[in-house]
Amino acid sequence: MTPSLVIENARTEAGAIVSLILANDRIAAIGPNAAAGIDPAVPRFDAAGGLLCHPFVDGHIHLDKTLIGLPFIPHIPGDTVAKRIEAEKSLRRTVSLSVEARGGALLERLAAYGTLSVRSHVDIDTEVGLKGLEAVLSLKQSHGHLVDIQTVAFPQSGVLRDPGTAGLLDAAIAAGADLVGGLDPAGIDNDVTGHLDAIFAVAGKYGVGLDIHLHDGGALGAFELRQIADRTVALGLEGKVVVSHAFCLGELGDADFGRTAAVLARSGVAIMTSAPGPVPMPPVKRLAAAGVRCFCANDNIRDAWSPFGNGDMLERVGILCDRQDLRSDEDLAAAFRLATLAPAEILGRPVGSLQAGSPADFNILPAASLAEAVAARPLDRTVFRGGAIIARGGRLIV
Ligand SMILES: [Zn+2]
Repeated sequence: MTPSLVIENARTEAGAIVSLILANDRIAAIGPNAAAGIDPAVPRFDAAGGLLCHPFVDGHIHLDKTLIGLPFIPHIPGDTVAKRIEAEKSLRRTVSLSVEARGGALLERLAAYGTLSVRSHVDIDTEVGLKGLEAVLSLKQSHGHLVDIQTVAFPQSGVLRDPGTAGLLDAAIAAGADLVGGLDPAGIDNDVTGHLDAIFAVAGKYGVGLDIHLHDGGALGAFELRQIADRTVALGLEGKVVVSHAFCLGELGDADFGRTAAVLARSGVAIMTSAPGPVPMPPVKRLAAAGVRCFCANDNIRDAWSPFGNGDMLERVGILCDRQDLRSDEDLAAAFRLATLAPAEILGRPVGSLQAGSPADFNILPAASLAEAVAARPLDRTVFRGGAIIARGGRLIV
């Protein structure tokens, strides 16, 4: 191997000070004495004791929805999911900047914060057809050097209440979308069986996973979760299905919670939370103890659903910890991993420790531990992608 960069004075999660030898896009060596004997002419980077961390993975965003790149657009309120869908459609018709431009601007911001992989839901409905998907797929080409992108064909307007959408979901997977989405089988389509039949049929046909938005609450939401888990097992899709939001898990009694968590754990259905506003949310620590895979993601970043969000996963993890009263070092470190290794596993990204042979994709944060990083949320971070520094201090340098 020919060294391309030496990184000195990096701190591992265990607290050891190490050097890393990079050989192009891989870590060739890592250890306290790894730099010994390396040609002094090889470029060097002093990590100044900064913490070496896995890159962030944002496992749930909407590249086609974001309004980043436009002047601030005031939020249009809507007190139900259905009203917000209509408000968003009205707004969408007036937005002049393309999905490519807005989504590209968001990807650049995410990369600047150290997020190197994302899963983007993309609206599929009978008005927009596959246009949003085609735009997001083009971002894989234009921005793939910064961020790896997975796509979910997302029926934001429902499936049964927007006839023709099921066929479009099928066409979306054929056109290159990675997963089939879904949305509130009861709350939006008013037909749990019909909605799940439609989306699982497409997933089964192509052998792809699903990622389903579920806002339906209480016992109804829990029933839908168990239905999703049963169908996951029936189709052999264990480990390939995510339910996003699953607010219901935050409002169940002990017996229903235990029964539902056990089914989720057995089926490998993962739960995503963005720790959203004043609504119940899945208790991530309790779910993890029950063997349910969880992860944290930004979801809406400055769009018709929310004027908030800056794209920084460290900020999102901090919000999660605030909302779930996670304060110990152990809990904060576990929460950090909800934005790195947990979603990486679900998206099929590298999940091993940073060692010789690993991709040279990582962040260096000015913190002594994962807990301090979550508590302080430092912006002064250095982002390595493919063995090169692509961002410092929250700004891209490539
Ligand atoms: Zn979403």
